[in-house]
Amino acid sequence: MNAAASSPVRDALPDRAELVIIGAGIMGLSTAYQLAKLHRARKRPPSIVVLERSYLVAGASGRNGGGLRMQWADAQNVALMMRSIDICRGLAQELDINLWFRQGGYLFLARNEEAESRLRRNVELHEMVGAPTRLLSARQVLDVVPELDTREVRIASYNPDDGVVFPWPFVWGFAQQARALGVRLQTHTEVERIEPLASGYRLHLEGGRSIEADRVLNATGAWSAGINAALGIELPNHPHRHEILSSEPIKPFLDPLVVDLESGLYFSQSTRGEIVTGITMRDDHEPESSDIDLGSSLRFLSHIARQLIALLPRARTMTPLRQWSGPYDISPDGDPIVGPSPGHPQLWQLCGFTGHGFMIAPVVGELLARWLFTDERAPCFERWDPLRFAEGRSRPSEDMIIG
Ligand SMILES: Cc1cc2nc3c(=O)[nH]c(=O)nc-3n(C[C@H](O)[C@H](O)[C@H](O)COP(=O)(O)OP(=O)(O)OC[C@H]3O[C@@H](n4cnc5c(N)ncnc54)[C@H](O)[C@@H]3O)c2cc1C
Repeated sequence: MNAAASSPVRDALPDRAELVIIGAGIMGLSTAYQLAKLHRARKRPPSIVVLERSYLVAGASGRNGGGLRMQWADAQNVALMMRSIDICRGLAQELDINLWFRQGGYLFLARNEEAESRLRRNVELHEMVGAPTRLLSARQVLDVVPELDTREVRIASYNPDDGVVFPWPFVWGFAQQARALGVRLQTHTEVERIEPLASGYRLHLEGGRSIEADRVLNATGAWSAGINAALGIELPNHPHRHEILSSEPIKPFLDPLVVDLESGLYFSQSTRGEIVTGITMRDDHEPESSDIDLGSSLRFLSHIARQLIALLPRARTMTPLRQWSGPYDISPDGDPIVGPSPGHPQLWQLCGFTGHGFMIAPVVGELLARWLFTDERAPCFERWDPLRFAEGRSRPSEDMIIG
């Protein structure tokens, strides 16, 4: 990352704002940008501040695999992801930045009976909602990726409209355009404490400064529990370290992002030729402190090497270039947690996006901005309601979460 991209952003802050968003990941920034657009349409200057304690792309939004897919099992998720991918088609022009958006498809491999029936069910659903997903035999898989070892593959599903992006310009683009529309952003500015007021909140920032807000949006992802705990808000999402690596660039040979449903292994090839690959690590070690562990491990490296070579034998000669990790913000029922908090109706949650927050962010920003600005509440927010856990309304409905 060049120095300009990680250097501090320090817009002047007002004493009070209508909305303060804590966390400048993809979620906080896409929402800020969409809200600013709504303000512009009504010719109202936005009174919106975004505070980020580190540099842009320091959180999960700068550490992910950049995969975008409509291959989900739940009809609502399929529809949302279809909209997200649709938004992405025109987003590079809108944000005036190259997002490296490449639609090479997603290829899901089933190697056991249970995975096979999941894919068959999905494809039936996708046909009904108009997503161009189709089933492939093991033989047909080789037409898409000839280098795969398909001896154990029973069946696969393939959607040519799914794709990958390079995550960083996404975040920078939303930040840049939100600021151009009047949103104030400060990076390297941690919110250390939140104090409830008779109306709204006072946020205490590092360096002894503070800012008041009518409404606060907690968009701190895997760190959101810290903000919530200090206010007595109990929600069940929790961080989980997810490791990933990229290889040295090699000659392009791989169009789709490939996922092995059984092991949770996924890999794609970036536009620069690197193979980007991650895998779900079961029984990962428990963190030794409450700090989120962003370390990398040899255990991951040797596990993923074995799994990758078994499926893609040519990976034997691949040289790892970088290995890193990032935090998933796991929601126990797989649905995000979005809306007013229990006991704090003016403090909204925007968290719990597990391993798919990047791909859903474009549409969530659009829908949440509309809810915040006009009170128009999209149906997905009923299911994502933060109150559902305490009220016994939490129902897992998605079985295509990888990780
Ligand atoms: C390795 C990995 C691979 C992934 N692959 C994919 C993928 O292929 N596709 C996909 O869709 N999703 C993927 N994800 C998930 C996706 O990255 C996340 O769901 C998404 O980025 C979450 O965005 P966010 O804005 O909620 O959180 P973040 O990007 O983590 O942003 C939260 C921000 O809040 C800041 N913050 C925290 N505390 C404070 C505070 N007190 N004051 C101020 N700021 C604070 C943090 O510094 C951080 O920048 C992956 C995640 C990981 C870790």
